[in-house]
Amino acid sequence: MDQGQDMRTGETAARGAGDFGNIIGGIRHCTRCVLPETVPGISFDEQCVCQYCRERESGNPDQGLDRERDKSRRDHWRKEFLAMARGRVRGRDMGHDVLLAYSGGKDSTYTVHLLSQVFGLRVLALSVDNGFMSPGAMDNMRRVLDRLGVDHMLVRPSPPLMRALFRRSLERELYPARALLRASSVCTSCISVVKALVLKTAMDMHIPFVAYGWSPGQSQRDRCIIQHNRQLMRSTMGKTRDILVSAAGPGMAAYFPDLESLPAEPPREVHPLAFVEYDEGRIKELIGHFGWQQPVDTDPNSTNCLLNALGNREHLRRYGFHPYALEIAGIVRAGNMTREEGLRKLQDTKGEAMADMVREMLYADAAQSARTGTDA
Ligand SMILES: [Zn+2]
Repeated sequence: MDQGQDMRTGETAARGAGDFGNIIGGIRHCTRCVLPETVPGISFDEQCVCQYCRERESGNPDQGLDRERDKSRRDHWRKEFLAMARGRVRGRDMGHDVLLAYSGGKDSTYTVHLLSQVFGLRVLALSVDNGFMSPGAMDNMRRVLDRLGVDHMLVRPSPPLMRALFRRSLERELYPARALLRASSVCTSCISVVKALVLKTAMDMHIPFVAYGWSPGQSQRDRCIIQHNRQLMRSTMGKTRDILVSAAGPGMAAYFPDLESLPAEPPREVHPLAFVEYDEGRIKELIGHFGWQQPVDTDPNSTNCLLNALGNREHLRRYGFHPYALEIAGIVRAGNMTREEGLRKLQDTKGEAMADMVREMLYADAAQSARTGTDA
């Protein structure tokens, strides 16, 4: 890089300063994406650009070429998945092809459409009500699945048990730091229960694929079809089960498959949003035709869970960065959201009142059992 180039980059960085400049709330932020210096492992160069943005820029100087490459990668994985689905599904004259973890949020709603209407697969949507599902998300699920004619299974684990799990998640360090880069401890606990129930159900019903509506920022593009190894699965799920059991009690084990008798080839895990171009605006417009409406009762980062705001706030307080920062940075870097929009999402405080309300709900039965002398 010559000196002239260097100075121009420096100027751009300086011009960007202001409401959404590099210093926000006394914390340095990358001038290209939204990452703050509080994210573990991050480093900035002299232009205050993070290493992830720098890597992307130096690896792919041509944005057009980059788009092409992304598109051909998406096409590749889509074809791969469809060929695999045909191979695994052929000959089965009953049952479902894929079990989708369905939260009622925009991403998983769009994934229902992709799997059932675009790919023509027989979908079973499985929703886990953690006790804090927004009423708006529930309504959306009913409307959308009715419209698309997709089977739905709703599982509601014991609410007091789930509340105990969420309280422990707020109070204790249940997970290693690297597990908390992209999700709060509360979210990680909830997702662990969902993943266990999804696998257990798919195995019980002999469904060959399980799918998640992770956005491209949440999953790695080249890990969008995963064949889990039985031994590895036994050990990782065993560890997770032990964490949840030690946090909330033995009842948690009921949500896990029998790890001693896993099938030789467990269901494959797919992330279908990695097969298509991700555009939040267009996704919302499309699923609007299926009756999906933006819920008004959640915080701006979640369209399905009331607990999210509390989990995010506690994470931000404890670790100094928003659990969605890496995901949003990825979307900004890919050019699907402006830096300003991304920063606005991360700085939004509309979830404050909800976080307070949810905290009260979580601790209501702890207070009650203290009065009655039972163990919460
Ligand atoms: Zn960056």
